[in-house]
Amino acid sequence: MKFTRRDFIKNSFLLGSSFLFPPIPVYPAEKKEIKWIPAYEKLETEGKLAQRVKQAYAFFENCQLCPRKCGVNRQKGEKGFCRSPIKPMIFSYHPHFGEELSLVGEKGSGTIFFSHCNLRCIFCQNWPISHEGKGKEIKDEDLADVMLKLQSMGCHNINFVTPTHVMPNILNATRIALKKGLHLPLVYNTSGYERLEIVKLLEGIIDIYLPDFKYMDADKAAKYSAGASDYPEVTKKAIIEMHRQVGVLKLGHQGIAIRGLMIRHLVMPNRTAGTEKFIKWVAETLPKNTYINMMPQYRVEYKAYDYAEIARGITAQEFLEAMDWAEKYGLTNLDPQSVAVRNFYHHRRSS
Ligand code: SF4
Repeated sequence: MKFTRRDFIKNSFLLGSSFLFPPIPVYPAEKKEIKWIPAYEKLETEGKLAQRVKQAYAFFENCQLCPRKCGVNRQKGEKGFCRSPIKPMIFSYHPHFGEELSLVGEKGSGTIFFSHCNLRCIFCQNWPISHEGKGKEIKDEDLADVMLKLQSMGCHNINFVTPTHVMPNILNATRIALKKGLHLPLVYNTSGYERLEIVKLLEGIIDIYLPDFKYMDADKAAKYSAGASDYPEVTKKAIIEMHRQVGVLKLGHQGIAIRGLMIRHLVMPNRTAGTEKFIKWVAETLPKNTYINMMPQYRVEYKAYDYAEIARGITAQEFLEAMDWAEKYGLTNLDPQSVAVRNFYHHRRSS
């Protein structure tokens, strides 16, 4: 079905008529009640989860868990680019109410912030955690207990923030927690800098993929993310695979996300993120109703002050042009908060 300009405006009005956060998110996604079982539970029932944990742990011996492919032996205590030990380190965990509405619901998204990062953007807002590695080393069993604690607090999902370099620990902890009663969807909240082979290993374990797509140009990725010039190409492949596994976003009871792909794109000053190219790529590669969160909250953090191109926040005009491109290329499932911000800017202009 063709998505017209009128449909776009009507949909945007419905989503953002309160201008900021509508009380009930309305997505053009599946909303009917279905009996839901977490992906990893099915895999355990089939007797395959233990094998996946073993396969994942094997990567620690010659670490190739991410596109950096350091080749260090983390079993022996060697550290690669991410500086992560073999045990997971976490900075904090808590019900998070600042994530996408369909993850937050009433009780919050059960967020676990891992220390260290395999990408290390110079504008990272969590730089003490990602760059300096602030946090505490724990065992996989402790990580499982954290997941169960978040579940007991009523969280709607377990949201692993920056999981790539500790993926084997996450899989092991999931299996331990499953045996103790874990039954929530897992959210893989990643920078997008993922190897295809590793994402394939996660099939049947992760229910919700939440990748960033930060840049479309290799030189920007290299400049602002520690030489990761392959970021655009590897991230494209990873996201296509994520979509193959879980499809477009599906919502369950009260509009809570239960499965699917949700892509975040941070609009940056001076078109640094390549937003139009990103939207065009989504429109040409994935279904038009792929969930996209166009994020307006870029702020100057950490070393971004040293780069004139990104040493300011974005303007209303920069965010509005990004949303106009989404309309132009026919994307139909934009995050309600993105739509509300756009409507707010439009309202402010016309008043
Ligand atoms: S996870 Fe860390 S050590 Fe392993 S390849 Fe990536 S950056 Fe290197």
